[in-house]
Amino acid sequence: MSDATMRVRFAPSPTGPFHIGGARSALFNWLLARKTGGKLILRIEDTDLERSSRESEENIKNALKWLGIDWDEGIDAGGEYGPYRQTERLPIYAEYTERLLASGKAYRCYCTDQELDAERQKLMAEGQTPRYLGKCRQLTPADEAALVAEGRKPTVRFRVPENQDITFQDAVRGTVSFDSNGIGDYVIVKSDGIPVYNYAVVLDDALMKITHVVRAEEHLSNTPRQILLYQALGLPLPIFGHVSLILGKDRSKMSKRHGATSVEQYRALGYLPEALVNFLALLGWSPVGEQEIFSSAELIELFSLDHVAKNPAVFDIDKLNWINSQYLKRLDLGSLTDMALPHLREAGLVVGELNEERHEWVKQVVGAVREYISFAAQIPEHAAVFFQDEITMENDETAEILRDPDVPQVMEAFLHKLAVMENVNAEQVQAALKAVGKELKLGGKKVFMPVRVALTGKMHGPELIALIPLLGVERTTARIRRSLALLN
Ligand code: GLU
Repeated sequence: MSDATMRVRFAPSPTGPFHIGGARSALFNWLLARKTGGKLILRIEDTDLERSSRESEENIKNALKWLGIDWDEGIDAGGEYGPYRQTERLPIYAEYTERLLASGKAYRCYCTDQELDAERQKLMAEGQTPRYLGKCRQLTPADEAALVAEGRKPTVRFRVPENQDITFQDAVRGTVSFDSNGIGDYVIVKSDGIPVYNYAVVLDDALMKITHVVRAEEHLSNTPRQILLYQALGLPLPIFGHVSLILGKDRSKMSKRHGATSVEQYRALGYLPEALVNFLALLGWSPVGEQEIFSSAELIELFSLDHVAKNPAVFDIDKLNWINSQYLKRLDLGSLTDMALPHLREAGLVVGELNEERHEWVKQVVGAVREYISFAAQIPEHAAVFFQDEITMENDETAEILRDPDVPQVMEAFLHKLAVMENVNAEQVQAALKAVGKELKLGGKKVFMPVRVALTGKMHGPELIALIPLLGVERTTARIRRSLALLN
């Protein structure tokens, strides 16, 4: 694809946490812009005055930046088609509304919410599609004056042409058709003068010269309403591409029940932005071949709408965890330690400022557990055994292991070797454990399992050859003695 004039946009409504579905739409648009040398525009759709907030807008921008998704025009970036926040574009919309009213393509509707509700109930009771039946379609100026005198505030409705087939080629879904009958004249401007999404989006996309509208499938059913407005306004249509819904593993729509749904939550849990980008790219897009780990540069090179699937994308957290663990493996230990520290502090394992020596020790601990984790928030549960000298037996089985008659001599032999060890490192600890087994004629498991249980209270955990050097002679000895004493 080489289309340097491609202009795509991401147009979030700043009404709450930034959902991963939104991040995926942003990413797909970004990949298209970067691949073609086109432009990505960030527009804020804040016409829902009650639910929109600047705080949410900030969250979205921060999340995009964290993911490495930058934009060329729009909020903060500027550009020749601004302003880029819909509430700052009201005069622009008003001008077009006047034109639609003057040409009779739209009209003022004075029906109250109660009247509209009654109409809807009646249609539903008759088994018909609820829609506006056009009560205010033919009002005369005198009728309108009388309604205004009653104190009614009008909305503006678009006059939907009858019997019109609305067919378009969706870049993802192929040919899509809707029938204009049954849509009913819809509101484009509310009684407070604020345009609705379906209207503002058309004017913005057209005036910002958007060439490709790539967005979530939930907007597919809005598209016929938008196309009718493009036609009424004589504006050129963009190419639409509707990307599938994201479902949970149980195939119901992705929701909080399935785990974290916002980018912020994944960030807080200690996922890496590159991993999340990699994972989001694969939510609905499948490259040719088996490769699953892609750098941003590779995604930009390979991405195309042709390989975006029509069927729903399934959010597989295990896959995200696997991808993230691949990225974590490649991360340098210093950076991983920086990611781990807030979690270790939150778990109460690290308190106060760390001096250089202690920081280095924590870093080694992080290094010892990194192979067991998928994201940074899992570090404390694996690292706790390095910090906590109070040992509690995990279960009866662990207590049983320490009651074995061979255990006292195993421990004494090991502690002796430890006491005389020149340098407590992985090799020497390994050699000592081996030698104890040999001297006492016991299998390896009979040595390292009781040592592990005495040191941690658990049967599984980090390698002893990593744990013991990091605990050092004193703490290792004290833990073993305390565990043995607990049993007597
Ligand atoms: N503001 C809409 C949303 O967040 C954008 C829809 C669109 O891309 O047209 O869902």
